[in-house]
Amino acid sequence: MAEVDAWIGLGSNLDDPVSQLQRAFGELDSLEHCCLQASSSLYASPPMGPADQPDYVNAVARLKTSLPATDLLDALQGIEQRHARRRSRHWGPRTLDLDLLLYAQAVIDTPRLRVPHPGIATRNFVLYPLAEVDRTLGIPGLGVVAQLLEHCPATGLKKLEG
Ligand code: ATP
Ligand code: CA
Ligand code: CA
Repeated sequence: MAEVDAWIGLGSNLDDPVSQLQRAFGELDSLEHCCLQASSSLYASPPMGPADQPDYVNAVARLKTSLPATDLLDALQGIEQRHARRRSRHWGPRTLDLDLLLYAQAVIDTPRLRVPHPGIATRNFVLYPLAEVDRTLGIPGLGVVAQLLEHCPATGLKKLEG
């Protein structure tokens, strides 16, 4: 199968989130048929949903992959499990969350996988890191990252140094 660009959103708010994300970048690069091509800085953001949990650390990564989208989702969920992710309440705290944000310019709408990820155009902790890597990136049906940013305040978002 031909290689495509896939964009992954990373998030963590448990057990040393910065290390969780740093390990995850390496694990994404080590997946079969995947190569890590770019990664954003790390950003701190307040939790979405339940407020009684620690702040998140977020980032995005761009992979070159020949895996079909559902196989890539399987692989991402495998990495989450290796980070001892436990499913608790909706939007509850987690050691690692890996969302498939974009898969080439594909539009996928199945019960298990929706691409573009439904939060991509409205979540500042996704759009700002995406813009850092590629402001010209087009999101099928929604527009270009640089334009979407104009409608998405950076409220609460902090770029982490280093
Ligand atoms: P959100 O998707 O709003 O960011 P979340 O990341 O907390 O919420 P999860 O509990 O991690 O949600 O995932 C729930 C389910 O979402 C997964 O089991 C998966 O099948 C499904 N899913 C649908 N589309 C995607 C996608 N693009 N990337 C990752 N998971 C997806
Ligand atoms: Ca998520
Ligand atoms: Ca998820």
